[in-house]
Amino acid sequence: MCACWKHLSMKELLVETKQNEEFIDITDLVNKSLSSEKIKEGILHIFVPHATAGLIINENADPNVSKDILNLLNKIVPKGKWLHDKVDSNGDAHIKSSLIGNSVSIPVKDGKLCLGTWQDIFLCEFDGPRQRKIILNLIPIIK
Ligand code: ZN
Repeated sequence: MCACWKHLSMKELLVETKQNEEFIDITDLVNKSLSSEKIKEGILHIFVPHATAGLIINENADPNVSKDILNLLNKIVPKGKWLHDKVDSNGDAHIKSSLIGNSVSIPVKDGKLCLGTWQDIFLCEFDGPRQRKIILNLIPIIK
């Protein structure tokens, strides 16, 4: 497989969130998308084009890890005390999204994500429920 830029692969996934705030494990969804990919080696860049959502990589074997992260965010960024709340009452969601970030990059080898044993990919919803878009770009390693 040629690894030139014309083979750069971009895909979009849609996820319906169910709660106002939640972390959704999208690892299986990303792996499924990757399985149909011709490029087997590169960097997978995952991006959410939203101002009130984010992406993190962390553990899902113990679901309390993501609950702890959300609890910490709610302690340092409580609802209802931000200037932007005058616009659409979600100032906290914008700040949480900024703190968490809206992209992650993961190495891909032999067509598989090089995640650690205890790593999963989470879509972080801070102003749901709503439909969220996830953009995947697999950037080939140029040899
Ligand atoms: Zn807003």
